Amino acid sequence: MNKELAAKLNLPALEKGWVWLVGAGPGDPGLITALGLQALSQADVILYDALVDEALMSLSKAEKIYAGKRAGVRSCKQDEISDLLVTLAKDGKRVLRLKGGDPFVFGRGGEEAQALARARVNFRIVPGITAGIGGLAYAGIPVTHRDTNHAVTFITGHGIDGKLTKLDWAAVSRGAPTLVLYMARKFAGEITQGLLAAGRSPNEPAAIIANAARKDQKVVITTLANLPAAAATAPTLAILVIGENVRLAKELNWMAEAFA
Ligand code: SAH
Repeated sequence: MNKELAAKLNLPALEKGWVWLVGAGPGDPGLITALGLQALSQADVILYDALVDEALMSLSKAEKIYAGKRAGVRSCKQDEISDLLVTLAKDGKRVLRLKGGDPFVFGRGGEEAQALARARVNFRIVPGITAGIGGLAYAGIPVTHRDTNHAVTFITGHGIDGKLTKLDWAAVSRGAPTLVLYMARKFAGEITQGLLAAGRSPNEPAAIIANAARKDQKVVITTLANLPAAAATAPTLAILVIGENVRLAKELNWMAEAFA
């Protein structure tokens, strides 16, 4: 981060013994915040997730520790990550914990922050653009629009036990007109079944946004009835969107080449 710019923006410095829990955004490295860039330039050590773009990582000379999951295998236990953050901070390091999207959205940032708070380590939360909002923008889908939805529900498909989240799908179905689902691709069949059984229309528009805001972004526009089939062939990293706002992609599809 350019020092003059940092001074003009009055950015705080990442101090020794502090941990900054930073969201890197959904993919496009340009979507990181100024505070995120500041942390990259000042950190002594970075603990990063699989979802963080390599171009961002290459900006920093810090020691880099991979702390994430790959191919669904947990290579690093959550407690170990939290303990490591605490230890590094207590050693007087400037610690950057860099996560994909927003650290407080389905990213266990809350758990890591709790561990820091309990260990009396100073920390700052730097929000990022979450895939369930920014990813939709890159697909030309406004997460809300006055013509289509006044509310939106964010859901994780993946429960704590690795199965589909235990949710009252009938209540979800009657709730917000637009549903944005993270970690839900492999549960698309069960989710669709639940929603159809609860009365959502099979013709309702649905979208799969895979590798959102990345060079290999792929957007599939379908219907709720066809969502399971479309999900079966979609790349793994994907957000599902169900709701009338999906229709707007036709008009607002600014990343035209991204459409299959
Ligand atoms: N904290 C992150 C979410 C972590 S959970 C955030 O705020 O975005 C991981 C899930 O996020 C993935 O299973 C996928 O559903 C979604 N996701 C994250 N980045 C994505 C991307 N670039 N494209 C599509 N989905 C993405």
